[in-house]
Amino acid sequence: MKKLLFLIAVFLFQNGIAQRTIIYCGKLIDVKALQEQSEMSIVVEGNKITDIQKGYIKAAATDKVIDLKNNTVMPGLIDSHVHLEDETSPHAFADKFRLNEADIAFQSTVYAERTLMAGFTTVRDVGGSGVNIALRKAINKGIVKGPRILTAGKIIASTGGHADPTTGLNEDFIGDPGPKEGVANGVDECIKAVRQRYKEGSDLIKITASGGVLSLEKDGSGAQFTEEEIKAIVSTAKDYGMAVAAHAHGAEAIKRAIRGGVTSIEHGTYMDDEAIELFKKYGTWYVPTIIAGKSASDSAKKPGYFPEVITAKAIAIGPMIQGTFAKAYKAGVKIAFGTDAGVYAHGKNWMEFIYMTEAGMPALEAIKCATVNASELLGIDKETGSIEKGKSADIIAIDGDPVKDINSMGKVKFVMKEGKVFKNL
Ligand SMILES: [Zn+2]
Repeated sequence: MKKLLFLIAVFLFQNGIAQRTIIYCGKLIDVKALQEQSEMSIVVEGNKITDIQKGYIKAAATDKVIDLKNNTVMPGLIDSHVHLEDETSPHAFADKFRLNEADIAFQSTVYAERTLMAGFTTVRDVGGSGVNIALRKAINKGIVKGPRILTAGKIIASTGGHADPTTGLNEDFIGDPGPKEGVANGVDECIKAVRQRYKEGSDLIKITASGGVLSLEKDGSGAQFTEEEIKAIVSTAKDYGMAVAAHAHGAEAIKRAIRGGVTSIEHGTYMDDEAIELFKKYGTWYVPTIIAGKSASDSAKKPGYFPEVITAKAIAIGPMIQGTFAKAYKAGVKIAFGTDAGVYAHGKNWMEFIYMTEAGMPALEAIKCATVNASELLGIDKETGSIEKGKSADIIAIDGDPVKDINSMGKVKFVMKEGKVFKNL
């Protein structure tokens, strides 16, 4: 009998009638209504969610059943700020001179898989060497296991800025990188740098609108692009359907970037009241990355972990982001979940939920930031970000209930991406 049913399933599959998968959910988080529902069934056919019903619906003999009756089920999580190419270590700076693209590519596949297994079915990679574009292609082809990736490719910075790849180096290495390498000054070079990213296959543009913590520069927060340059970047990006994410710590840089029309501000550390008003006026997203600040300042306390110029900045700026997040949340700024994974170990992205709830955001709202909100920021809310009919079957389950214990976000038991099961413990 079992053999016959199997043959029927094979016949249906081969004739284009996708086998149904029914997922029984002990609890299901409705991320839009901010509610937990008990005893629900999700039906998946091919790579899509085709139905959601109350109760445990009866499965036909040809259906595949996944039993998550003892778990909390939610949409696949989205991290809007990761760097999949590398990971913090005391030798990260020396590695810049030792690693080739192939070395970076191999390690990035490991970080991508770890991220997916932690329940993050989508990420926005906001900057690397360009290997992140090849990684996206390999994942889309099914060669490498990893999340759906939207990538900025290389970051665009001004000369000597946070993402100028030669900032702070010995003069033999400094050279004069230009738009192709992601360094642009003046409107014309900014336009060229965006077009170069489009040519290489970036999905979005990332700029460093202010100084930063983990670069070999003195100033971690001052503005590094003029408003005119930012406007040129944003309008050129728009021509190619690309959004612009702006790294910005200082208030002046944040304001220039918002007025310049960027889609999101990353970190936003020294956001003041005027900046908050601008966020709301322009509808700009805020991506906090609290965990990055905390882990950079923790690493800075280990002697010799960072070069000296970085240590001072990491200790000063790092711990501030959680307070900024609390202020922005209270003021009603639109927030999307993002962590800066790579600045800390990949796979621990979920710890951001602890810091968000510590700062006063309820657990279900924090999960909404990592699903509905992040999907809107990434422009893929029709495809993913909630469990609804017609959406991609990006579904995860955890042990425990995040409303009762936010640490349960780290206990990922089940991961499905685009209808395919990657983890089922
Ligand atoms: Zn970053």
